[in-house]
This record gives sequence, C-alpha cells and structure tokens, in this order.
Amino acid sequence: MNSSLCPCGSQKNYESCCGLAIDGGQIPAHAVDVMRSRYTAFVRGNYDYLRATWIPENCPDDLGADEPSQWISLEIIDVSDEEDDEAEVEFKAQLIFNNKLEVLHELSFFEKIDGRWLYHSGDFLNEDATPQKIAKDAPCPCGSGKIFKNCHFV
Ligand SMILES: [Zn+2]
Ligand SMILES: [Zn+2]
Repeated sequence: MNSSLCPCGSQKNYESCCGLAIDGGQIPAHAVDVMRSRYTAFVRGNYDYLRATWIPENCPDDLGADEPSQWISLEIIDVSDEEDDEAEVEFKAQLIFNNKLEVLHELSFFEKIDGRWLYHSGDFLNEDATPQKIAKDAPCPCGSGKIFKNCHFV
C-alpha cells in the first residue's frame, strides 16, 4: 500500500485530500468531507483538528485517552442532504482495539455553524456487535501482509 494515500480511503494522496483541511486550514465544503477528515485525524492523532471540528459542548475532555491501537478503514455508507444547516453521514470504520477487530457503524450528525460543518454527535448502529478476536498468527487485518503478533498486536 502506498503510505502517502489518505487514510480516509479516497485513493488520493493525503496532501490533496484530508491534509488540505487538517494541515492546510481549508474549510471542507460538505459534512461528509469533515467526516472523512475527522477519521483521518483520528488515524493520525490530530486531536487539535478533532476539537476544532467538534461542537464544543460535546467534545470529550479526555479526547484521545481511549483510542484504538489501529484504525483500519473507513467506508461511507450514506450521506443525507444538507438542509437547515444539518446533515447526517452514516459510516463504518474498522479498527483494532484490545487485539480485537471491531466495526464502528455510526450515524453521525453534523451542524453548520458560522459556515463550518461541525460534528455534533453520533448514534451507534451496531452496539450489540461482538468484537472479533484476532489470532496471533493470522494475517494482520491492517493489510500489511505481516502476521498479527508481528504487526498491530499489543
Ligand atoms: Zn482523505
Ligand atoms: Zn497490522
């Protein structure tokens, strides 16, 4: 995998994708672009950017305290119309947490304030899903080609 590809799965380079917002200070035009760039910011640990794109009163104080050991992929499932400065984005993200493979399936709510789309909150759509244990000698789900215990096993 080309390491300069943007983690959000766009198949573009980071610099010409989410990097424009995260490092370049550009304001994403659409809620789904904010969603993508926030995923990328989680992958890269850009917590300042996450705070800046979060409705302030909903942003956790301990942001970053309990993060997955690895974010694997993002899939945008559905994007609503942007009406009355509100929008919804449904996504699935794969991640490794406590050496288990989890899918985070969320419906995210965005609100446009002063011309910027901000993350308001999200509903988990698969709260009952059981994280899958990853065998130590199985291929790592991150796609590196290494076995798990030599890759993202912690
Ligand atoms: Zn991106
Ligand atoms: Zn890995």
